[in-house]
Amino acid sequence: MSLSHSLGFPRIGRDRELKKALEAYWQGELDEAGLRAVGERLRAEHWLVQKEAGIDLLPVGDFAWYDQVLTHSLTFGVIPERFRPASGKPTLQTLFAMARGAGRSANACCGGAHDQPLVAQELTKWFDTNYHYLVPEFSADQAFALSWEQLFEEVEQAHALGYRVKPVLIGPLTYLWLGKAKGSDFDKLELLERLLPVYGEIFRRLAEQGVEWVQIDEPILVLDLPQDWKNAFERAYNLIQREPCKKLIATYFGGLQDNLGLAANLPVDGLHIDLVRAPEQYPTILDRLPAYKVLSLGVVNGRNVWRCDLEKVLGVLRHAHERLGERLWVAPSCSLLHSPVDVSGEDQLDAELKSWLAFAVQKCEEVALLTRALAAPESAEVQAALAQNRAIRATRAASSRIHKPEVQARVAAIRPQHAQRQSPFAARIEQQRERLQLPLLPTTTIGSFPQTPAIRQARQALRQGQLSAADYNEAMKGEIRHAVEIQERLGLDVLVHGEAERNDMVEYFAERLDGYAFTRFGWVQSYGSRCVKPAVIVGDLSRPQAMTVEWIRYAQSLTDKVVKGMLTGPVTMLLWSFPREDLPCEVQARQLALAIRDEVLDLEAAGIRIIQIDEAAFREGLPLRQSAWQGYLDWATAAFRLAASGVRDETQIHTHMCYSEFNDVIESIAAMDADVITIETSRSDMALLQAFEHFAYPNEIGPGVYDIHSPRVPDTAEMAALLREAARRIPALRLWVNPDCGLKTRAWPETEAALVNMVAAARQLRAELA
Ligand code: GLN
Ligand code: ZN
Repeated sequence: MSLSHSLGFPRIGRDRELKKALEAYWQGELDEAGLRAVGERLRAEHWLVQKEAGIDLLPVGDFAWYDQVLTHSLTFGVIPERFRPASGKPTLQTLFAMARGAGRSANACCGGAHDQPLVAQELTKWFDTNYHYLVPEFSADQAFALSWEQLFEEVEQAHALGYRVKPVLIGPLTYLWLGKAKGSDFDKLELLERLLPVYGEIFRRLAEQGVEWVQIDEPILVLDLPQDWKNAFERAYNLIQREPCKKLIATYFGGLQDNLGLAANLPVDGLHIDLVRAPEQYPTILDRLPAYKVLSLGVVNGRNVWRCDLEKVLGVLRHAHERLGERLWVAPSCSLLHSPVDVSGEDQLDAELKSWLAFAVQKCEEVALLTRALAAPESAEVQAALAQNRAIRATRAASSRIHKPEVQARVAAIRPQHAQRQSPFAARIEQQRERLQLPLLPTTTIGSFPQTPAIRQARQALRQGQLSAADYNEAMKGEIRHAVEIQERLGLDVLVHGEAERNDMVEYFAERLDGYAFTRFGWVQSYGSRCVKPAVIVGDLSRPQAMTVEWIRYAQSLTDKVVKGMLTGPVTMLLWSFPREDLPCEVQARQLALAIRDEVLDLEAAGIRIIQIDEAAFREGLPLRQSAWQGYLDWATAAFRLAASGVRDETQIHTHMCYSEFNDVIESIAAMDADVITIETSRSDMALLQAFEHFAYPNEIGPGVYDIHSPRVPDTAEMAALLREAARRIPALRLWVNPDCGLKTRAWPETEAALVNMVAAARQLRAELA
């Protein structure tokens, strides 16, 4: 018999119970015992639903108070000096201080010395997901010691409930890879030998608890690895193999490619591969895998919300089963951390749409059904389930809410010239300068102004039916008036309407496009207690009517200054949604691009002279493997250009991206051919501008001169210095002056104070350069 297992289940709870408990605890409204009780209840519930779904081997260690990488840091004693408690024994307070920072030291031993605020560990994206983990901080003299009992306690809880479980650990190489060497410059790989004994200790403890299998996640095996890291894998696992417990190495988010032989031959008992992301690994893997090993095939997509094509998957599984027998295990592609919890609670979706969706619970059911189908292909239950799956797929394949001939015809009619502005930048910019009459170093902002409690309350009242649409619109117009007045008073050159009416830069547009659907409970953890609820692309996408024109036109009617229209770009729309699986991403991007193009043209027709198309997610869409980069960059750039290129030369197109690691994509960003790009640089002290020393960015650029992620108000001299720095690398004629991102998370007082100084800095530089 093949075995079904799950690599991890979402920890947040179907109603975000963990989020609510954490926030109550941080507010002091729930004590530690109360928080722990919520965690215990959630773990028990999640094992139960997975068991009831039919999963044989359940994960432990997928629960985390904040983040699973942080749990490992505590487990290994990787606790930066500034958080280290006097007693030496970390507590939940230590954990949350590492995650969120703290007002003052958790270390009470040395009086005032530690009274400065403690900076949290850095957060960064977990591979190519929207989950963020806390980056371990390693020092050159880093010691490792088993320091946290959570995993063993959770195994005990599961055993007490009678479950057969498989603890999940992040493997030593992946753990080191994810961390950062701090202080002196050293190679973190040198820490491996010191780290491995702690793994040994963990395996021995788990074996004592009666654990048979342990899952060791080594997703870095799907990356381009330097040779010394590849070598380290063999070294590490040769040592680990001496420890007790059977070991399954789990890889996901991509194919093993050049690491296939390495992964297949590590001296462990099993290997999990992701056949959703990298189906081409099968059947190659069969010839490479030693005959004693278990092969776990990840066949149900852990990263999206669609039901699995059971018969297609079953074809592969049957073939593997013939070769491997009970050495074949069946699983989701990756941890279900990245999918919402349970679709059965969705009471506002129509039955048809709901029947197309599968969240974590349903994915476990699919895995279990596939496993049963191997054991008893003819059973009536299996046959009925397959027939139902076939019927669901048939309705989707033929559904008119998915397939829209008019949209497909428009996509088919796209020609190269649609992604091409009428004239080259040099000619356009002359016309734009003539028309816009802006000073040297024009000042502007990125789009949003503070989303005040009043704005959020108005939106909530509208949703709950306590405020009419007309009154809501009046309230938002009031916010726009307020924003325009302030910008005029501050002396900004290019104004924005402030985005008061937008809940979120993707959701706002998704709600106004045909082809999107929205769930009520489709939450996915982003980091800590923060969850996102991505919109779902269900069918061909189109724009039934203008989405932003009335707001922008209203803002422009209030002032003689130029108001910049504000849109979200096709790549960001796509990357921050759950995409379709029945259509390539690049086609979905083209559909989105056409919809946005229509909006751009409507704004232009309404007299708007500058239109910004935000592509906040552009860089994070880069594939994990460098060999796939160019393919992505080509279609992403083409989608942006398609959205932007319908306008006349005299209309200025801006784009915005919020990050500073540009060097590797700078040429594609130039190829987007926006007239102006605003980017983040302030947090890295303009380090980004190094990119421009090697590559002459051809168009205009606004390197953010202050960090909006902090309430700190930078002074004029500081921003003037950054601008001087920028002007050394980019001709002043092509420089803009702006903050590094939107201001919606800030409050008005600090926003105004910072912008006063920013405008002053621009004036100072103008005088210096004149
Ligand atoms: N225009 C958006 C804003 O100002 C851009 C947000 C972003 O880049 N994340 O909020
Ligand atoms: Zn931004």
